[in-house]
Parts: sequence; C-alpha cells; structure tokens
Amino acid sequence: MGCELCGRAVETTTHHLIPKNRTESPTARLCQPCHKQVHATFTHHELKQEYDTVEALRGAERLQSFLAWIRKTDKTHVRVDDSDRVRRWRD
Ligand SMILES: [Zn+2]
Ligand SMILES: [Zn+2]
Repeated sequence: MGCELCGRAVETTTHHLIPKNRTESPTARLCQPCHKQVHATFTHHELKQEYDTVEALRGAERLQSFLAWIRKTDKTHVRVDDSDRVRRWRD
C-alpha cells in the first residue's frame, strides 16, 4: 500500500473525498505531501463538486506539475503554503 495519488510506497494519511461529510465520505490513502497539496489547491467545495474520487484528483490539471515533481522525490513531508485563492475561500 502506498499513496493512491502519486503511487509512491510511503506512509499515508486518510483523506476524506467529500469534506464535511466525514462519516459517509469515502476515503483515500494519500501521503502527506499529496494530502497537503490537495487541500492547498482545492476548496472543500471544489473537492466535493469535482474531485470526489481519486481518479478525478489524479487527472486534475492543477495537480499535474506537483505530481510530476513529487514522484521523482522521496519526500514524505513537505510544507505547502495555501494558495491565496484557497485562503480567500476559507471561513
Ligand atoms: Zn502521494
Ligand atoms: Zn484530506
């Protein structure tokens, strides 16, 4: 078992594919960098509306450069600054 997004065999965390509905939400196993990146890139609304499957996330245009990069590294933890876009949407 590894990360369902980048496919690397590293430790993973639980991502709820439908945020805010954690009890019924399907989950995915994502490594910390991918998990961080997903939440920094998309709002909860976008995740729920468009990216509620691992397949959708894997194909997301906004994640492609990150995925291409992370797959070449062995990083298990990264710091990701939330984009202004997401920060504006929050709260
Ligand atoms: Zn990953
Ligand atoms: Zn998550």
